[in-house]
Amino acid sequence: MLEALRALRTDDTLLEARGLTKSFPVKSGVFGRTRGELRAVDGIDLSVRKGETLGLVGESGCGKTTLGRTLLRLVEPSEGSIRFEGEDITHLPQEPMRRLRRQMQMIFQDPYSSLNPRMRVGPMIEEGMLVHGLGNRLERKNRVAELLEVVGLRPEAARKYPHEFSGGQRQRIGIARALALLPKLVIADEPVSALDVSIQAQILNLMMDLQSSYGLTYLLISHDLRVVEHMSDRVCVMYLGRIVETAPSASLYTEPRHPYTQALLAAAPVPDPTRKTSVNEVRGDVPSPLAPPSGCSFHPRCPHRMEICDQRAPSLREVAQEHRAACYLYSESKGGL
Ligand code: SF4
Repeated sequence: MLEALRALRTDDTLLEARGLTKSFPVKSGVFGRTRGELRAVDGIDLSVRKGETLGLVGESGCGKTTLGRTLLRLVEPSEGSIRFEGEDITHLPQEPMRRLRRQMQMIFQDPYSSLNPRMRVGPMIEEGMLVHGLGNRLERKNRVAELLEVVGLRPEAARKYPHEFSGGQRQRIGIARALALLPKLVIADEPVSALDVSIQAQILNLMMDLQSSYGLTYLLISHDLRVVEHMSDRVCVMYLGRIVETAPSASLYTEPRHPYTQALLAAAPVPDPTRKTSVNEVRGDVPSPLAPPSGCSFHPRCPHRMEICDQRAPSLREVAQEHRAACYLYSESKGGL
């Protein structure tokens, strides 16, 4: 029975990280001697299920972009493991990893800087297919035309350069490029934060349409809980390199448990009387990840701080079904807020 359940869980999981850590040496002085380390990602456990959108949220500098890049091994993890479709890819050599990346694509925050300004859009979308030896010339040309159409651009776009497009159109090109290799997983890093609010919903709606057409799985990274709410099935909230709360969207937005999540939601400008968000406001700045606070790293900013909070880091514990929070307010002795 246990084996069957385990198999079911593995089948359902596309990407899984266990104890994932990425630290960078901090150097100083003329000789560049190592003075310490910055743990941008600190022992993260995370799984992304097939076909879902997992939102990853936190303030700037919390490590979410580094986590996204580490999951794709665009930067190498310092510790922990990464599995893709059940296969351990943590130490997969360069060449098989390059082939596997066809199934794991990334959409970037600033489409302009991620697109080669001297390349026309058609060859740019075709590039990945060429690198991976997919199709003949005509098939690739047809595929580019098809991709431009599915992202809402005209076929003539293939002959133009990135600077001839608006920000929203450039993000559509970035999406077409990511889809060219029919990936299973797309990591979208702040895909709409550089766009006007009026365009943001269009791009998010396009991403959702493409998800159902192509069966995509998304890891959606954003500093904005409202952007993630629009399309996520589940959400992880990150603070200083760690996940502090994870829950299905409905549960997280109606009953946020961690004081940091509550503060983030309280800071977001959408009034909703059904949400329990009025108690806190996020105060102070994010501490430097070079010298994170002891114990619960949120304690210097937390209105509910207790004696134990600066002594030991709380672990993620179940506070409701599939809803976990790392906070002593939910230890058995306290019994929750
Ligand atoms: Fe606040 Fe303590 Fe909970 Fe950290 S563990 S969020 S300091 S109450």
